[in-house]
Amino acid sequence: MLYESTRGSLNKLTGAQAVIRGIAEDKGLYVPENLPKLPFKPEEMVGRSYREIALEVLLTFFDDFKREDMEHCVNSAYDEKFTASDVCEINEAGGAHFLELYHGKTAAFKDMALSILPYLLTTSLKMEGITDRVLILTATSGDTGKAALEGFAGVPGTGIMVFYPDGGVSQLQRAQMVTQTGDNVKVYAVKGNFDDCQTNVKKIFNDEAIRAELKEKNVIFSSANSINVGRLVPQVAYYVYSYVKLIERGVIKAGDPINVAVPTGNFGNILAAYFADQMGIPINRFICASNENKVLTDFLRTGLYDIRPEVRGFKLTNSPSMDILVSSNLERLLYLMSGRDQELVNDWMTSLETLKFYTVMDSEPLMDGLKRFYAGYATEEETLTKIGETWKNEHYLMDTHTAVCKKVYDDYVSETGDTTPTVICSTASAYKFPQAVGEAIGCPETESGFDALEELNKKTGVSVPYGLRDLDKKEVRHKEVISIGDMEEKVRAFGSDN
Ligand SMILES: *Cc1c(COP(=O)(O)O)cnc(C)c1O
Repeated sequence: MLYESTRGSLNKLTGAQAVIRGIAEDKGLYVPENLPKLPFKPEEMVGRSYREIALEVLLTFFDDFKREDMEHCVNSAYDEKFTASDVCEINEAGGAHFLELYHGKTAAFKDMALSILPYLLTTSLKMEGITDRVLILTATSGDTGKAALEGFAGVPGTGIMVFYPDGGVSQLQRAQMVTQTGDNVKVYAVKGNFDDCQTNVKKIFNDEAIRAELKEKNVIFSSANSINVGRLVPQVAYYVYSYVKLIERGVIKAGDPINVAVPTGNFGNILAAYFADQMGIPINRFICASNENKVLTDFLRTGLYDIRPEVRGFKLTNSPSMDILVSSNLERLLYLMSGRDQELVNDWMTSLETLKFYTVMDSEPLMDGLKRFYAGYATEEETLTKIGETWKNEHYLMDTHTAVCKKVYDDYVSETGDTTPTVICSTASAYKFPQAVGEAIGCPETESGFDALEELNKKTGVSVPYGLRDLDKKEVRHKEVISIGDMEEKVRAFGSDN
């Protein structure tokens, strides 16, 4: 199986090469040249573990990997770092099936992909005979950064540099990142928002002069953002897994459709669901949930993607990992749904860069395809109300992102009456956002996120994920706040001082 760029007619790459490269030279994203079919019937996997299912899904996409190598990747990634019974958990509450993807090291769903990416990358480097050091450039809206740091810290032959928006992440998220240990890690706060971080990382990535300069020092770039297929593919596995488990539990029969509801930022997680669907998992509707930065809601409803400043401002919300206006992975959906029309995708993306909007209204296949997506959003207040209500009625504790999703799912049900069993992606532990969650369920007000975490624990008795304990007692190792313009210089300096 080869991978091609969404934007140009560049050479196709193997899976290993695409993982190393991250983003294509023409700024496009890699997609499989054909979306493969699952090599098994879901019902045949009943009784199998997460690892077993993930292994088969990964090998389907990365058929250039030896089975034993992939086994090593899967077994090393999905070990006791995950505290759930089987890597993730599925719990029923309020008529939906919550797929809890946050039982890893950093208490967010990013661990599902970022715990395996370093293994996929180092295996790929070996396969390609590359001995250069790989610098992982990462822009984060809060959760990717820490998950990538944990994944890559101490991994020989790699270095990782994380850029997060100063003031744009929760106190706990920040504490997780700035206390990161490891000789090969750098963390910078950037005076800007997530889109600034992501745009500049992409720019640096495609700057030939910087690439050449680092190559002199035997350093090459790769990416831990969901633009990397090594991030995307592991996420497909948990949708396949969920479907198998719903059969196993008798919620559905083999072949029955399900819905999936996903709190969406960069469109990576929900795109993985679309991949699972294309591989043969019968998904009826994709429910795409946004917070008040609802550019995706508007796009999926109208076909107009519009981030002109006069149309919408960027908002900091209580679900910061979804505070994103430029959803990178949407490009992959546009590519696939337009019948792989590279010219159209180029036009749209150029329009987005220069005019800050594009419309797909003239493309019939797209407007048709997008109907499979239901889109909605939750305001700040609605998010808190949903957390409070669900705790009170169901005794189920949700983080803010998952609450955004539950709210949109409830809207979907009342609008459509659709009772298809639905998997709601639960993307973070409530303890990552303890002040907002505490406020929602009536905890006493606190000065700091650390105190809020204590209060939340006292009130709910839900156990605190091990990755979030004692963060206030750890040494702060990364204090630098830089301007957007300084990002490039930090990258250039890599390899000189460490
Ligand atoms: C990253 C993240 C999201 C958004 O996921 P995308 O793949 O970017 O759409 C949602 N919730 C949480 C908690 C996250 O960390």
